[in-house]
Amino acid sequence: MVNKTKNNIEEIRVRFAPSPTGPLHIGGARTALFNYLFATQKKGSFILRIEDTDKERSDQKWTDEIISELVWLGLEWNEGPDVGGKFGPYKQSQRLDIYKKYLEILLQEKKAYYCFCSPDELEAKRQDQMSRGLAPKYDGTCRDLSDQIIQKNIKEGKKSVIRFKISQKKITFHDLIRGDVEFDTGLLGDIIIAKNMETPLFHFTVVVDDFLMQISHVIRGEDHISNTPRQMLIQEALGFYHPIYAHIPLFLNPDRAKMSKRQGDVALKDYHDKGYLPEALINFMVLLGWNPGTEKEIFTLQDLIKEFSLEKVQKSGAVFNIQRLDYLNGYYIREKSIGTLTKLCLPYLQEFNLEQYSPKNIEKIIEAYKARLKKLSDLPQMVDFFFKETLTYEKKLLTWKDMGDSQVKESLEYSSKILSETKKFDKKSLEELLVKEAETFNSKNRGYLLWPLRVALSGKEASASPFEIAEILGKEKTIQRIQQAILMLP
Ligand code: GLU
Repeated sequence: MVNKTKNNIEEIRVRFAPSPTGPLHIGGARTALFNYLFATQKKGSFILRIEDTDKERSDQKWTDEIISELVWLGLEWNEGPDVGGKFGPYKQSQRLDIYKKYLEILLQEKKAYYCFCSPDELEAKRQDQMSRGLAPKYDGTCRDLSDQIIQKNIKEGKKSVIRFKISQKKITFHDLIRGDVEFDTGLLGDIIIAKNMETPLFHFTVVVDDFLMQISHVIRGEDHISNTPRQMLIQEALGFYHPIYAHIPLFLNPDRAKMSKRQGDVALKDYHDKGYLPEALINFMVLLGWNPGTEKEIFTLQDLIKEFSLEKVQKSGAVFNIQRLDYLNGYYIREKSIGTLTKLCLPYLQEFNLEQYSPKNIEKIIEAYKARLKKLSDLPQMVDFFFKETLTYEKKLLTWKDMGDSQVKESLEYSSKILSETKKFDKKSLEELLVKEAETFNSKNRGYLLWPLRVALSGKEASASPFEIAEILGKEKTIQRIQQAILMLP
């Protein structure tokens, strides 16, 4: 049995409670991660609860996407809409009867009331308060209506909402990240907790569910911190214990403004689609707010289960630094075996006719770019030249330093000749041969031979080495591309 008044739940139980009104925000994903790490480390339970009471804005497609993105990240939950559990259902839209019961209790005990004020009336009051320099809040017009008037209004079909009576006092709580927080509820008016008996709202459903699901710790974004006193008052009104709170800092753009869509991607799926690996995102997200206190910066999920702690989560906003994500992603890309990496890359190469190369050569293409790859979606524009019949590039790209057209031509003819004559067309042999020949061609710098050759093969200013490219293209295509380049020259 749950002790209603005191949080003495021995088991650690935390929840991630997204509203499926849009894609999973990267900040939400980090909230899920912190909850997962906290629960897993403490051998507690991590619960996924879908907060879909907002009928107009919620959509099953977002629930599906949130679930699939969390699965992709590798965060497993012990209880949730898809796996069930002893405190289900875990979708709020399936718990309306439960909320109704608790709404009835609050109404009966006169801790909540029907409010019949129309939106126009409320707006007029708001304007009036503001014009008098007051912070707008509900003035309590319907707070003490008699039962008779309430019944009459309901009978007449007057539109109403259900408001919760906010008691005026100082609420304090100890936040595991922010320390002691004090809030004067006198600043609040009575809040709406349900549109009607069938349509409860966020503050109320959160409180009921956190209690019934025996949540021990509420770990959520700092944007919810001002909701906490409201929710604590509802807990008190229903005789529920207070969970322990931990509000994690928000993400900031590099200019320290709150992260917004305008300045970059905010949905986790955008990062997923761009070819960031889950390992990199986990590592990146945890460092947005959590400071291990050492120089170490590579953390796998397994490391984090051991090392993460809420005590080391900072209070100040966490600056979202995409360069760091790129760096971490590059690291995890390089950690992959070539077979695994190739599988991950294939969806990004669909626009090309891959059949023209053997699977082994496709692996070689990936291998040639593995070291410089920051995200998988960068790959197509790096390797497109392998798949093209003819390359288009500016003639002057073929020129190394002070070379004139005739020297470029001479260089390419030299390469063409030696490559036609050689039998061994693997990377290593080609490197040995070409480096030696480059020195013969021009003792000052190998670039006089190797640069025009590399550009002739790739059409690009930057690419893998000509040896790697030539091996993959094969002799015939290699010679053909050199000849095409020669034709560009007068
Ligand atoms: N459903 C809320 C949201 O998506 C979270 C509620 C909570 O964590 O208490 O912002």
